[in-house]
Amino acid sequence: MRISVLASGSNGNAAVVEADGTCLLLDCGISCRQLVTRMQALGIDPGRIDAVLLTHEHDDHVKGLEVFLRRHPVPVLATAGTVQGMAAPPAGAEALTPGREVRLGALTVLPVPTSHDAREPVGFVLENDGYRVGYVTDTGVVTQLLVERLAGCHALLLECNHDRDMLRVGPYPWPLKQRIASRTGHLSNEQSCGALERLVHSGLEVVVGMHLSQTNNSPHLVTRELAAVLSGSGVRLAVASQQAALVVERGAGPVPG
Ligand SMILES: [Zn+2]
Ligand SMILES: [Zn+2]
Repeated sequence: MRISVLASGSNGNAAVVEADGTCLLLDCGISCRQLVTRMQALGIDPGRIDAVLLTHEHDDHVKGLEVFLRRHPVPVLATAGTVQGMAAPPAGAEALTPGREVRLGALTVLPVPTSHDAREPVGFVLENDGYRVGYVTDTGVVTQLLVERLAGCHALLLECNHDRDMLRVGPYPWPLKQRIASRTGHLSNEQSCGALERLVHSGLEVVVGMHLSQTNNSPHLVTRELAAVLSGSGVRLAVASQQAALVVERGAGPVPG
């Protein structure tokens, strides 16, 4: 299994998951042009995408979808709430039900509810040939259910949105600060580290910090804090960004795209 995080952050999110000939796009929140450019740079033919899965309807997760589907009319899978929340819902979107696993070619996908100010947001646990990947961003808390579903994952792509102090003293207006820090906002580094402490196990290979705020966080800070939790575990660590792709491959990587 190979996961290529094409972009991650509040300006746009998209990732490609490949396994044994199956190719899925998780979110489509960058322009179609950017998406295609970044995929091609990694040797991924956009025509190979079998389906698009959406975490939720926020613009930074769907804004490139309409144009992408015009060029590559593939099935879209999203929760009913996500489809209802979209300004331009794709025709014939297939419903994902949180907690109900779907089989898509070589991959099994389990949508897991997240806690976010969207209609029916989810994260994903993807599995191929015994290898499990957790993909969770845009959640204000790591619920007990999330911890249970992410337990045993070999790769964890987990939101590290903000440093609490940087958010508190930073330039955002007070209501936005409150929204981000709320139970339906985004995870702080501290929260992600707390979750990670519960999720480290001997089979965990790699952790990727996701959806970093460019204003209220820094890759350096995230790396330092996650490394402290993972110290001595041998788990590899990377931080995804808005500007460049990052590739995580079973038994290798992570490497910049
Ligand atoms: Zn987002
Ligand atoms: Zn969101």
